[in-house]
Amino acid sequence: MATESFGFQAEISQLLDLIINTFYSNKEIFLRELISNGSDALDKIRYASLTDATVLDTEKELYIRIIPDKEKKMLIIRDTGVGMTKADMVNNLGTIAKSGTKGFMEALSSGADISMIGQFGVGFYSAYLVAERVQFVSKHNDDEQYIWESAAGGTFTITLDTVNPPLGRGSEVRLFLKEDQLEYLEEKKIKDIVKKHSEFISYPIQLAVTKEVEKEVEDDEEVVEEGDKPKIEEVEDDDDKPKDKKTKKVKEQQTSNEELNKTKPIWTRNPSEITPEEYGSFYKSLTNDWEDHLAVKHFSVEGQLEFKAILFIPKRAPFDLFESKKKRNNIKLYVRRVFIMDDCEDLIPEYLNFVKGIVDSEDLPLNISRETLQQNKILKVIRKNIVKKCLDVISELAEDKDNFTKFYEAFSKNLKLGIHEDAQNRSKLAEFLRFYSTKSTDEQISLKDYITRMPEVQKSIYYLTGESLAAVRDSPFLEVLKKKGFEVLLLIDPIDEYAITQLKEFDGKKLVCVSKEGLELEETEDEKKEREKEIADFGDLCTTVKDALGDKVEKVIISNRISDSPCVLVTGQFGWSSNMERIMKAQALRDSSMSSYMASKKTLELNPANAIIKELNRKVAADKGDKSVRDLTYLLFETALLTSGFVLDEPTSFAKRIHRMIALGLDVDELEEEASAVVEEAAEPMENVSTSAMEEID
Ligand code: ADP
Ligand code: MG
Repeated sequence: MATESFGFQAEISQLLDLIINTFYSNKEIFLRELISNGSDALDKIRYASLTDATVLDTEKELYIRIIPDKEKKMLIIRDTGVGMTKADMVNNLGTIAKSGTKGFMEALSSGADISMIGQFGVGFYSAYLVAERVQFVSKHNDDEQYIWESAAGGTFTITLDTVNPPLGRGSEVRLFLKEDQLEYLEEKKIKDIVKKHSEFISYPIQLAVTKEVEKEVEDDEEVVEEGDKPKIEEVEDDDDKPKDKKTKKVKEQQTSNEELNKTKPIWTRNPSEITPEEYGSFYKSLTNDWEDHLAVKHFSVEGQLEFKAILFIPKRAPFDLFESKKKRNNIKLYVRRVFIMDDCEDLIPEYLNFVKGIVDSEDLPLNISRETLQQNKILKVIRKNIVKKCLDVISELAEDKDNFTKFYEAFSKNLKLGIHEDAQNRSKLAEFLRFYSTKSTDEQISLKDYITRMPEVQKSIYYLTGESLAAVRDSPFLEVLKKKGFEVLLLIDPIDEYAITQLKEFDGKKLVCVSKEGLELEETEDEKKEREKEIADFGDLCTTVKDALGDKVEKVIISNRISDSPCVLVTGQFGWSSNMERIMKAQALRDSSMSSYMASKKTLELNPANAIIKELNRKVAADKGDKSVRDLTYLLFETALLTSGFVLDEPTSFAKRIHRMIALGLDVDELEEEASAVVEEAAEPMENVSTSAMEEID
């Protein structure tokens, strides 16, 4: 028979080596993985049968069967699922790498456990924990029966199957066990593993058990010599048997299939009768997770519409939570106990894609298709309910600080995405947000906490966004707010800015970015009067500075938000903040036409209480045309870019200016000449720099 050979894709080959050579004792998880694959394959054929019942004609019964063969040291896992065509085998079992292959190996090298394999979508290869050679025999409705075979070592083969009995439809995984793994042929061992890992699989899992039974057979032999056949007992003839025939009893090997998972679906049971352990093992069998869930919500909705559901929140985010192409099996949809599909996108919004569970509806039609699902009114109501219950369970989590911290570490991005996407639940979601603040840099606080400790005069919630806590905690934007005793939230997750601009307000209080223009700080009458006076006093300086900077800034005004620094750069109310500009610049594939529009408007705010600004003002008052004012303005502008969180467009010319000042400070003459030569050619705005101007700063 023609056998084709294939090479494993390099990463898969590496993975197999790892699985075979890593010392690992918890090998039993291979069975969970193979059963879960069988269950997935059964799901697929069942789903296909809802629209075309004839697909089941090749094999009507849906089951998974485990068949130990002690003689051949072989363990078989058979399913009557959808099966694989030859092309499927080539693609799914060896030649095409999934992102999880590498992901799993990386996870392993950073301390992950082999039992996590299922989560990375490469569970099949766990067969090599116990087998030295694996055959995968499969029959798909659209193809002939083929045998995939490999003993690892970099290659596998595929052969048209002319030797095994026909499967009808489905697959048979044959594990030729390693000499030291023969315990997996023992009935008791298999039963224990299935109970532990696969109890809640919704198809029957059968174990082929062999029993020695006594059987009566006709005894044809004429002469029976006592002692010759000790195992056979003579029996008295019964009334209903022909008088002239003798029978005997013989011992015979008989196989029968014992169902191992007879419990009824857990979601149909009464929650008060389900133990946490049962939820835990149901969660694990549903998700391939190796750890228990963090929280669970089991509920039923009755009335006009009826459904039952169990929702779980995991302890950790999966490694590829925001990998957008990936289809997720988050909420499994059942209709009247029949599995319909496991990646029903219409059941839960994208931002809750970390919630796992099942929904069993009494009302949906069994033959519902993906296309009609989208329009389905019943599904919309179910979805609304699910979102509400998810928020309920998060609220419950929020009552326990430790658990909530774990949850928030794993899924805060989802909450923030939710604030962006889900207008209806925005304010509810906002309650779950936690941020650092000027008064709390060790522990994140909620918006509610913030509000309860606001001074009475404070009207708005203030925040500042930036790259890290270190970058924002001493920002000049916070100077006056700190003095006034106003707390400022420090938002350092890139997604914060998206979320907060959508949120706009919380509990009737406006959310105000302290680095944007138009900051209205609650001021007393005296403070207002003083500001008006300053605006008048520094009017000429503002005009001079604006003239010097030209298009680099939109306006130059007197600031109400800084008390120490000489100046800051603020952005337009509806444009990007400096942080946003940084984030957007970092996104390599963006269309850059947007940035010039969103990022252009900067206002330079001067601090009238600062000595440098005062001195500049005095110079302008004395001589409007004073050239040194104009030159120093550039240095002030560029340092303000830095302290306000922007990126310097021309860092080298900025550095040269600073070096020149250092030289002046050190009184190094040669250096001074060198430096001034460079400065003059490199930086056109510095053309008028004079030594005297620099000396004024000292
Ligand atoms: P995952 O189940 O997460 O996709 P696996 O490594 O367990 O990853 O399986 C790889 C693929 O091989 C499956 O996605 C499926 O397409 C195919 N496969 C595995 N086992 C079976 C089976 N018993 N019947 C049909 N297809 C299967
Ligand atoms: Mg799998």
